[in-house]
Amino acid sequence: MSQILVERGYTNAPNLKAQCKDFKCPGDGKDDCCCRQIMYSQPDFANVESVLEASCCAQDFDVIFLPKFHCELNFIEQCWGFAKRIYCMKDSSLSTAALEKNVIDSLDAVPMLAIQWYDSYQ
Ligand SMILES: [Zn+2]
Repeated sequence: MSQILVERGYTNAPNLKAQCKDFKCPGDGKDDCCCRQIMYSQPDFANVESVLEASCCAQDFDVIFLPKFHCELNFIEQCWGFAKRIYCMKDSSLSTAALEKNVIDSLDAVPMLAIQWYDSYQ
């Protein structure tokens, strides 16, 4: 990592530690506390498109990143809840095929207007 940084003009990189303890940099606005932080702030590292983004972009889909671990902020959770409510009202069955059909029918039953409404409250 330090060699890569030297090649990018950070001649002091060999004197820096590889990373701050537990990946917790001081956060004092400087980005030169450790090699990892410098590397992390390099535009060609910071702006790399993920495999997910590249795959979706190739198929003309948008990718929306939402905060992690806050499912209530993700409108798909409301859509999923809507579908689960419909699913619970369907007849139960021991047939896997019938249950799978119930799931698909429940998901298809979520109205587009509801999806758009959930999405508008993000
Ligand atoms: Zn650091």
